[in-house]
Order: sequence, then structure tokens, then C-alpha cells
Amino acid sequence: MVPFAGADRVGRVRERMAVEGVDVLCLSHGADLPWLTGYRAMPLERLTMLVLPAAGEPVLVVPRLEAPRVSPRADLFTVLAWEDGDDPVDLVASLLRRSVRSPDADAGAAPVVAVSDRAWATSLLALQSVLPGVTWRPSSSVTAPVRAVKDVGEIAALRAAAAAADRVAAVLQAGEVPLVGRRESDVSGDLGDLLLAEGHQQVNFAIVGSGPNAASPHHEPGARVVGPDETVVCDFGGVLALSGDAGAVGYCSDITRTVYTGTPPAEIAECYEVLRAAQQAGVVAARAGVAAEAVDRATRTVIDEAGYGEHFWHRTGHGIGIEEHEDPYLVEGNGVLLEVGNAFSVEPGIYVTGRFGMRLEDIVVIGEDGEPERLNRADHAMVAFGP
Ligand code: ZN
Ligand code: ZN
Ligand code: ZN
Repeated sequence: MVPFAGADRVGRVRERMAVEGVDVLCLSHGADLPWLTGYRAMPLERLTMLVLPAAGEPVLVVPRLEAPRVSPRADLFTVLAWEDGDDPVDLVASLLRRSVRSPDADAGAAPVVAVSDRAWATSLLALQSVLPGVTWRPSSSVTAPVRAVKDVGEIAALRAAAAAADRVAAVLQAGEVPLVGRRESDVSGDLGDLLLAEGHQQVNFAIVGSGPNAASPHHEPGARVVGPDETVVCDFGGVLALSGDAGAVGYCSDITRTVYTGTPPAEIAECYEVLRAAQQAGVVAARAGVAAEAVDRATRTVIDEAGYGEHFWHRTGHGIGIEEHEDPYLVEGNGVLLEVGNAFSVEPGIYVTGRFGMRLEDIVVIGEDGEPERLNRADHAMVAFGP
């Protein structure tokens, strides 16, 4: 069991706050709070907010009826519970006034407060109205680059999630999930059930796109019945938490495998080999010190050169962790350099509208040696269920 590195994360966040000139970090809904403290706010209307000053004690403001859910973390924060009838905005505002640098110290400069990207707009608007002199930023300006570098415990959790997803993919590729003659939504349900059976606590999505629907990357699996001689794109993932850890808030899996319900004709077999080569090129390119966009170019170049460029029109991948999509994004225009500890998908696709589609996705981490390591190892071939 890898211990939860909350104190270490607070230290890294405070270093980043200093770089960004942020006086106070205010974390409410979203992934930043559980990442930092192991506590996830209930997604209801009552205000939960961790007020973390650049120096001084962090305070978790939480509704009294949700306070029993908070595991005490005296090393990380104190708990301040508010009751129905109290004004939690006043409470947070007074903590903020106490935390920001004194106006004399830095004459004229407005205090800078970074608030959760996923905080309710109602919370932020209420705080803005009582604290008119504050400059507000999204918390991701502080947390995203820190969260993008996974610690040992996070990589262990991502590895376990990926291994579970691989076992589901292996069941699919063994032909043990019936396809032909069944609705996409039924196949999707099976994949979700398998994720849960393999230890996931939650299914985030189980895309099943068959035939022409395979050309829609985020297809909502529906009533279409899977036919013979079709590509079927299966893209599934969820949340798996390693037990016994105070920070057991769960990390995401995300894998795509494309299968064929028949014997693939040459066109589709060749197209898949292009896709596979593109994905391999992307994984190999993903080393420490390389720009995120260079990984996107690596996959795209292979697909372009094979003449399928117009059929690959989304980014190559996204970071993954406590959220299914987070930094770093592997997309043209993102010049951020990849680092040891980054974790992200490499998932090129080829989509021929009205006919067929295919995608191949693995989660990759950059190891201590700066080299990419695939966490997903399920068969990369387009497994075919021919007669
Ligand atoms: Zn996607
Ligand atoms: Zn996916
Ligand atoms: Zn993905």
C-alpha cells in the first residue's frame, strides 16, 4: 500500500501558488479537493470549500450534515462545519480576508484567489459580491501542472485501473461478449458490468459504436443492432480506488479496442494497420522533454502519409488521473513539455463517415527514465470474429 501523499501535494501546490502569485486557493467541487485531501465534496448545493492560504493553516468549510464524511486529517486541514441557517459565504469570506496578504505589504495589489474550476457559479458569484477587491483565477492555473505529474501512489492506482480494463478487453477480444444480433446498448451494459466485476467502483462510459456509428467517436450506444462484417469500436473506462488508503478517491481507466464481426476485407485490414502504426508512433514519441503537440504530430503524420489524414480529426490524447480528462492534452498548439510522471491516453482514430470507424487507445505513463510505458497491454490487433 502506497501512503497518501497529501502533505507532499500541499507543499507542491504552495510552491506553484508562489510562482503564480496566488494568495489563497479555494477548493470546492471537482477533482482538486479529493486529490489534495482525500475528501470529495458531495455534488449538492450546500457550500464545501477548502481555504488554503499561501502560508497558515488550511480550513475545510463543510456543511455540518456532511462533516461526518470527512476523515480527520489534522496534518492537512482543520474542519469548520456550518449549519443550515448560517451563511457559509460569510464564513469563507472572513477566512479569505484573514488569509490574504496585508494591503500594506504590497501597496495597491489586489489579492489573488484561485477557485475550483468546477465550483458552482452560485458560490463564486456570491463570494465575488462580498469580496469586490479580489482578482479571481481558476484553480487549474495552480493545480493542473502539479496534478499532471503523478506520484508513486497515483501511478500504482492508474496501473491497477488499466490492468482491470485490460482484463475486460481480453474478454471482449476472446469473443465472450456476444456482438452480432445484439443492440449496442446491451453490449455497452455488458462492458460496464465487466468493469465493475473487475474491481471498478464506477463506470464512466462504455461507448459501443458499430458499423457507420463507429465513425462517431463519442457515439452514444443505442438501439442499433450490431451486424456481421462491421468494425465495432469499444471505448470504456471507469474509476477504481485502491482500498485502505486515506486518499482512496479513485483513478480512471480508459481503453479503446476495435473488433471486427467477420473477416475484414483488405481495405479495413490495411486501414487498421495504419492506425496501429500511428498509435505506436505516438507512444514511442511520448518521452520526457518532448512537446505534447509532437506526440499528436507523430500519430497524425503516419495517418496523413497513408492518405487517411482527413479522417482523423480529433486530438491524439488527454491526460488522465482522478479525472478522465485532464492535463496534459496531446493536441497541436500545446507546446508544454512532457515530464516524468505524466499519464495520458494515446488514441488516434480513423473515421470514414457513413461507412466505418476505428480507434486504438492505451494509457501511457512516462517513467523515471523518461521513456513511455504503456499501462494497457490488451492485444493491439483488430481481433476478428470471422467464420
Ligand atoms: Zn473520448
Ligand atoms: Zn477512451
Ligand atoms: Zn480517452
